[in-house]
Amino acid sequence: MKILFLSSEVAPFAKTGGLADVAGALPKALQKLGHDVRIVMPAYRGVTQRFPFVVTGMTVQVTIGGFIEQADVLQGAVASVPVYLLDHQDYFNRDGLYGAVAGDFPDNAERFGFFCHAALELCKWLDFVPDVIHGNDWQCGLLPVFLQTTYRTDPFFTKTCTLFTIHNLGYQGHFPPEILHLFGLPAKLNDLDGLEFYGSISLLKGGVVFSDVVTTVSDTYCREIQTPEYGYGFDGILRARHNRLFGVLNGLDPDDWDPQRLPDHPFNAADLAGKAAGKAALQRELGLAIDAEIPLLVMVSRLDRQKGFELIEEAWDELMALPIQFALLGSGNRELEARFAARARRHPRRFALATGFNEDLSRRFYAGGDLFLMPSLYEPCGLSQLIALRYGTLPVVRRTGGLADTIVDPLQDAAYANGFSFLPYTAPALLACLTRALAHFSVQKEWQTMMRYAMGQEFTWQIAAHRYLELYRLAGEVNRGNRK
Ligand code: ADP
Repeated sequence: MKILFLSSEVAPFAKTGGLADVAGALPKALQKLGHDVRIVMPAYRGVTQRFPFVVTGMTVQVTIGGFIEQADVLQGAVASVPVYLLDHQDYFNRDGLYGAVAGDFPDNAERFGFFCHAALELCKWLDFVPDVIHGNDWQCGLLPVFLQTTYRTDPFFTKTCTLFTIHNLGYQGHFPPEILHLFGLPAKLNDLDGLEFYGSISLLKGGVVFSDVVTTVSDTYCREIQTPEYGYGFDGILRARHNRLFGVLNGLDPDDWDPQRLPDHPFNAADLAGKAAGKAALQRELGLAIDAEIPLLVMVSRLDRQKGFELIEEAWDELMALPIQFALLGSGNRELEARFAARARRHPRRFALATGFNEDLSRRFYAGGDLFLMPSLYEPCGLSQLIALRYGTLPVVRRTGGLADTIVDPLQDAAYANGFSFLPYTAPALLACLTRALAHFSVQKEWQTMMRYAMGQEFTWQIAAHRYLELYRLAGEVNRGNRK
């Protein structure tokens, strides 16, 4: 099968969250199963300096607002999967992927509309006729729209079907209706059956409504987003398409997150000495009291309401009264950062804050912690808890979305427990869960058994890759049906 994988971020080239990890790993798994996969991403500032990409000499052109815009095509690879970067200086040669400190870039619709349109032109340049184009999140939402309008009668794409994955329904790509005109798209798309969403145009809606099959990244999230509580206004749209909407749990690349490959204090399930050394080193690095006995609770997260910071702030005094240390690595919301920085000054030996997006440091957090905190308001899949499991840092999570599908609490099933979970989105529920986890931690022999079990669990991409292949085939059937 020929698969074009379109993503606004791909690890290791550009990353703001889990989408990049998925885009860096799933295509590799699909290729391993014998398929011809190609990835397309924008050429953001710095990517070509840090990674080996070659100039292909190809240029793709699309018309935007009556002007011809063009991108040079650069080529590199993740493992042996070809990656094409679309290099448009004005759109992508900036600091930040979607925005800067001041907020989102005002021309994001234009930037990512261009990205989608140019990706289709790229296929033609390469003479690569995709059986399926797999788009991700609102940045790719216009791609199926172009295919069903601008390219509807283009023989090149007659056999091309689309699958669209929602990685986070919280980001919907809202823009004024005028953007349709910019891309030469019919004005009638500004309609309930089209891209219209409460007076705006939603690019995410474009992806959901115009793709042949829609997926999201866990079964539970797939059910949740069809309810008003988690649907963010999309529940009706999604319920209407429930027979083409599927949950596929993300995997984790075990080579990327391997405690045996830690540069400083490697360890494995049979020999946990390195983990203890990593904990001491992290305590030292963060200025926490160096103490092997005290449970170290860690968190690596975007600083965003989604990740449950309201609960942590509400529970703060009780949290600090527990016999624990807490270390947070976070980037994002500046106000949250300032409030946690103030708390770090108040509790210097007990709580440490590290800011910025720092993958090496995140590894030391995952490796050195005892418990990993993830009390998300909602969580489509969540990769952080899977990474934490690999390092034997047992997750304490809210039972929602992918967290509900991956973390088993001893109260649910003692034999298969790998962490702790609570359901009500309240501070007391979080504290009660954490207190229970601490009680388990105090019985070290049992704790280590649970750790070893967690470390041995595999959430590989293989299962997901097979499932996506089935769904690509289904998308092909849907597409053929629609064209009859
Ligand atoms: P989301 O995509 O919603 O941010 P996920 O759990 O799916 O959440 O993925 C988050 C990914 O980003 C993980 O790989 C996590 O380690 C990483 N990450 C989040 N915040 C930081 C940070 N401040 N520094 C380094 N890595 C981070």
